[in-house]
Order: sequence, then C-alpha cells, then structure tokens
Amino acid sequence: MMLAMFASHPIYRGRLAPSPTGVLHLGNARTFLIAWLRARSQGGALVMRMEDLDHPKNKPGAADAALEDLRWLGFDWDEGPDAGGPHAPYIQTARTAFYARALEALSAKGLVYPCVCSRRDVEAGQSAPHTEDGLFYPGTCRGRFPDYDAARRALPPGRLPAWRFRVPEGETVRFEDGFCGACAQDVSALIGDFVLARDPHGAGYMLAVVADDAEMGITEVVRGDDLLPATPRQLLLYRALGLTPPAFLHVPLVVSEEGRRLAKRHGDTRIRAFREAGMPPEKVIGLLAWWCGWAAWGECLTLRGVLPRFDLSALPRRPAVLTPQVKREFGM
Ligand code: GLU
Repeated sequence: MMLAMFASHPIYRGRLAPSPTGVLHLGNARTFLIAWLRARSQGGALVMRMEDLDHPKNKPGAADAALEDLRWLGFDWDEGPDAGGPHAPYIQTARTAFYARALEALSAKGLVYPCVCSRRDVEAGQSAPHTEDGLFYPGTCRGRFPDYDAARRALPPGRLPAWRFRVPEGETVRFEDGFCGACAQDVSALIGDFVLARDPHGAGYMLAVVADDAEMGITEVVRGDDLLPATPRQLLLYRALGLTPPAFLHVPLVVSEEGRRLAKRHGDTRIRAFREAGMPPEKVIGLLAWWCGWAAWGECLTLRGVLPRFDLSALPRRPAVLTPQVKREFGM
C-alpha cells in the first residue's frame, strides 16, 4: 500500500540552474523565487546546478557570486555544489562523462550524425529570416559521412565536426505546460536537426540539461519562458534516450518598459548592487513578490514569508516590467 502511494506520488524535485555568464539580476531572481516557492509549497526538494558549459561567456567568480546573492536573498537548496548530495557533482563542466554517455546512447541508435557546417554556412543557406531561437538547419550533412572520422577529414586541421540530432520529420511535439498551457511545435520545420555537441566532448546546453535533469530525478522544471521554444527539442531527446521527461512550467520574464530583456542600459538591476547599497533582502523579495501579484507595493517580506501566499493563478500572464516607479524606489 505504502509502495503504491509512493509510486503514484513521486516526491517533487525541482532545480535552480543559473549560468555563470553574468550576474544575478532581478529577472533571474524572480524566476528562482517562483521555482523555490513551487518546490517548497509542496514539501519538495531543490537541487542547485551550475550550468557553466558555455565557457567563453562565463565570467570568473560569477558562479560563487550567484550562490552568495541567492543565499543573501534567503534561498536554500538541498543539494548543490556547496551542499553536496547523491547526484554530485552539481557543476556541469564536471559532469561531461554523463553527456558523453548520452551522446553514445543516441549514436548507438543511429540518431546523431557528424556535421561540418560552420555557423556562417548555415546562415548563408537561410531562405527566410531565422527565428529568434536560432538558425534553421536544413540537414545538409545528414547521411553525408559514413562516420565521424570521415567528417573530420573533410575539415581543415584544427576544426572538428559537431554532432547533430536527427529530428523526426513532420512530427508536432505537444506538451502541456504548467503555466502556458497546451504547446506544440514541429521541430523539423522550425529548427531542423540541432547541435548536441560542438565536438566529441563538447556537449551543449540541450543535451546536458536533459541528461542532468533525468539523472538528478527532477520532476518539474520551472524556468523563464525564453526557454519555452527549446522544450520540444528536449522532449525529443528524452524520448530518444528512453527517459521519462519532467513536467515543465515556464514563467514570463522581467522586461524593460519597451518590453526588452533586461540589460545594463536599463539600470543596475544586479542583486549585488542592492546588497552593497545596504538594502535589506526583504525589500528585494517584496518587489519580486509584488511583480508576481503576491504582495502590495513596498511590502518587505522574507522568502518564507511569501510561501503561504504562493498562488500560480495570481501570477500575471504578461512579463513583469521594470517601471519608472520600480527604478526610482530601488535607486536604478
Ligand atoms: N542555465 C540556464 C539559464 O540560466 C537555464 C536552463 C534551464 O533552466 O533549463 O538560462
């Protein structure tokens, strides 16, 4: 009886997955607030995973700084780089063996192929302006090389072929998002065969996030809706790897008044800046909660204090806006 209960109600496992490519700002913090509340409101566990695969964009010290800023705001997690846990390591650059194994599994099923096209080749071949999410790849290297070495010989020394995933033709991937509702995308028409690894050892985000969320037993992914268009690709990978996908819940981002993603020119929205200015973390949490519809303007709250107010149905459907009122109040 007990076993049956556990089987039908798996314990909620969520994750916070910052990339150390920049500093933690109000936008990331708001998404993490929702992810944290979603997990804690169900008595679930939270994993902290550092997504540092994008080396050229990584800023030195940004990983530690992000953890520090989140701790200052009152966040906690049960497993992570600084907390350890049964799925260690929790830093992607230390987990490449998992990604190599996943790539091998896909390769054994004939679902990947080596590709010698450079970004410029792919750009030159675009007939229509590409989607914001990336370039459409028409499958130029599909079936072109018998194996990886043959592809490698076709390239000048110093360049390595990438691995692409063979996307099923004409299939619409459908899923029910926990916030956005019914979603559908024909990956073959919109994106085409996408890159899994830039070289045999260079797994990219798409493969790594699937391998990690599966290995870490994540039951629901809560993240910004900028990643909504990537979810169908990830679902294809779960299926190809024979893995059960988590549930997905994508939330709107914080944007500037013109509706743009937060950038330096919109003012200093770094959590670190508020901390250094001597602002109490409760004031920042109050703003994040206000943006979510869970607090009055100007209210100061701890993270735990927001917990009883967590209500997804009150969360606005539109992005949160960095209004002049917010900027004034927070000295931006
Ligand atoms: N590390 C990614 C980011 O910071 C998030 C990836 C994900 O949630 O799947 O944008």
